[in-house]
Amino acid sequence: MQLYNTETHRKEEFKPLNEKQVTMYCCGPTVYNYAHIGNMRTYIFEDLLSRTLRLHWPLKHVMNVTDVGHLVSDADEGEDKMEVATAREGKSAWDIAKFYEEKFFADYDALHCTRPTVISRATAHIAEMIALVKTLEEKGYTYRTRDGIYYDTSKFPRYDALVGRSRLEGLRGGARVEMSDEKKNPTDFALWKFSPKDKKRQMEWDSPWGVGFPGWHIECSAMAMKYLGPTIDIHCGGIDHVSVHHTNEIAQSEAATGRKYVDYWVHGEFLVLRAGKMSKSGGTFVTLQTLRDKGYDPLDYRYLCLTAHYRTQLEFTYESLDSARKSLQALRRETAQIAAAAQKQPAVVTDRAAQAKAKFQAAMEDDLNAPKALAVVWEAVRGAELNPAEKVEFLKFADGILALDLFRAPEKKPQALPAEIEALVQQRAAARAAKDYQKSDELRAQLAAAGYAVKDTPQGQQVEKAS
Ligand code: AMP
Ligand code: ZN
Repeated sequence: MQLYNTETHRKEEFKPLNEKQVTMYCCGPTVYNYAHIGNMRTYIFEDLLSRTLRLHWPLKHVMNVTDVGHLVSDADEGEDKMEVATAREGKSAWDIAKFYEEKFFADYDALHCTRPTVISRATAHIAEMIALVKTLEEKGYTYRTRDGIYYDTSKFPRYDALVGRSRLEGLRGGARVEMSDEKKNPTDFALWKFSPKDKKRQMEWDSPWGVGFPGWHIECSAMAMKYLGPTIDIHCGGIDHVSVHHTNEIAQSEAATGRKYVDYWVHGEFLVLRAGKMSKSGGTFVTLQTLRDKGYDPLDYRYLCLTAHYRTQLEFTYESLDSARKSLQALRRETAQIAAAAQKQPAVVTDRAAQAKAKFQAAMEDDLNAPKALAVVWEAVRGAELNPAEKVEFLKFADGILALDLFRAPEKKPQALPAEIEALVQQRAAARAAKDYQKSDELRAQLAAAGYAVKDTPQGQQVEKAS
């Protein structure tokens, strides 16, 4: 299996430390708001990796849930995102974390992402984080300021491991502007922050340095090493984590253990909107629920993500989502026909099925080339090479990785509505166009009385017969 390693800037043959179990750590959600579909793109790519690895090795996959300590600004300034949400929603930080964690995993499951072996909440690992900061303190990597315990990045020679020397200088230059006067270097970061003197935080803990809360970066180092040991095979995340979060994770972990922290750093590119970056804190984001409300199935979105390589940016548009939806539905229709044909005329499965599987697997093992793997699927389905029984066997295998529910009964083409119902729908469309919402509501009530539910979507009215 070949994987592109951010640290070495090239595709490498993946060799696990231990053939008996591959270890993988993926940065998880900060649960102060809904996840957007950009975040979910990253989890889909990680799922493709997890499923492909499992073809060869048992996998221990750990993901954290950041429920404290992620500050609004990367420069260790600003408030904790969780506490900001508290003010916004009038709930406790604990309730907010619980609520958004549940919502996150509902989306995660709906997109058929395989649950990690271990899901670890930051708030349940404060002791491990304190222990790690203590080790760093003993080894002389830390210093104290008025607001916390900081990591001195000038003491760690490999600090440029992920970003490279020249880019690091650039980042340092940029960070200098917002640097507090107590920081020794612009890239230094908080390991432990003190609670403000004038305000009681909802989430805070005692520590050898005073009451406070952990920095975001120390969370991942502490939890990754607790569950996976000092050296991990694969560490994943979105591309935005390379220059700060993962760079800091390396600095903390390697300074503490004296061992290499991660063998393969694998990062997924962003999903972008035409208007630019999709960002949770900026408030401009599309969620899976937004897509559902517009009549899409979560797997339509998964298909869309599979059409782009994980290391290329993907621009999100509803046109591309529509075409992903159409392709997925067409693929399910083909699959249903093939399955029916295979039942009608059972045929011998020759090693042609194995060859098709190998071709598919080779695409996935070439740094997760999902677009190529999808092309192999279409070729197998439409081509005459495989008999129906072989196609069924191949499709079952491919769907074990793609997880697109290919054997789900395809959606029926919408049935024509009875003429009198269609007339009411048209009248309602006219009323809505004329902004006569009273009339439109009356017509909706008439339709409901006749047993038809109407949903308004950007594509127009969606009418369904109540079952
Ligand atoms: P967060 O909950 O903000 O910590 O992010 C969760 C994951 O989503 C991280 O791996 C991020 O790198 C990733 N991520 C954030 N924004 C995007 C985006 N627009 N496209 C793809 N991945 C993203
Ligand atoms: Zn992380």
